[in-house]
Order: sequence, then C-alpha cells, then structure tokens
Amino acid sequence: MAVFQLQKNGTNYICPKCGRLLRFVDGTAVQIVKGRADMASILPKYECHSCGVYFQELLGSGFYDEHDLPKSEGGAKNKENWVATGNLKPMELKRDANNQCLCPRCGEMMDYVEGRAVTLVNGRPDMENVKDHFHCSNCDSYFRRIATTNYFQWSEK
Ligand SMILES: [Zn+2]
Ligand SMILES: [Zn+2]
Repeated sequence: MAVFQLQKNGTNYICPKCGRLLRFVDGTAVQIVKGRADMASILPKYECHSCGVYFQELLGSGFYDEHDLPKSEGGAKNKENWVATGNLKPMELKRDANNQCLCPRCGEMMDYVEGRAVTLVNGRPDMENVKDHFHCSNCDSYFRRIATTNYFQWSEK
C-alpha cells in the first residue's frame, strides 16, 4: 500500500488515484481491539468508494496511508481473493450463451468483446482490440487471445 499527499479541491480532498472527491468520515472513540487500544479508529478517514480504498493520515505527517475499504462498503468485489496476475497462466476460455465467461482472476463474470476494425488512438493504430478478447469490469483485467488458439493470456489493458 502506498503513501500519498492528498490534494484539495476547494475544501474537499480529492482521491489521488481517480480524482473524485473523497468522503470525509470523522474518527470515533478509541476502540479496544484484542486488548489493545485501536488508535486508527480515532483518526478521520477519507474514503473513495470508486477505488474501494480510504486514506488515513500518518500521525501529523501530512502523508496519508492507503487502506482497502471493507468489501461490504463497495469497490471491486472480493479483492483479497484475486489471483496474483503473475500466477495467471495462459488458459482456455470459452464464452457462454450470454457472451460471458468466468474471470480466472477474480471469479466474477466477464464480457466477451468482439474484435473490431483498426482505429487510431493518439495517432497510432490500436492493434490490441482488433482481436476478440475478454474484459472483466470487476478486476479490470483483459484476457487476450494467443494467436489462433483458444488460449487467452491476462493483460493489463
Ligand atoms: Zn478514487
Ligand atoms: Zn475479474
């Protein structure tokens, strides 16, 4: 988890990852967790539900530590169970009747995307989307076809 300096937009802090306004959540009274005072709960939090994270200041430093929001509060689902991308080997993926397939990384259903004609992106031909692929909106992964096989490889974009 990274450490950030939060920027303000007027009176509100903005998310350093996606640029949306952060939701301020005031600290609560000290909680005792496993026999110890949990000092984190008395500090205010700045939550981003779009990224599924919150930020909390590292005692008076002006730097903010990033934490995952509890999964019930939104953000991508079951993040802690995702397969590390380095462990995703090429695998055979088949779309079902709804043009969907189980995502090998997070286990949610992902969409099959038809290949399309070459388009220009920033003045360069975008060859990546000429071939059909799968896209998972839960973990934001792409699985791209390996040559003419039925095997697909994870890709960041
Ligand atoms: Zn965000
Ligand atoms: Zn996924």
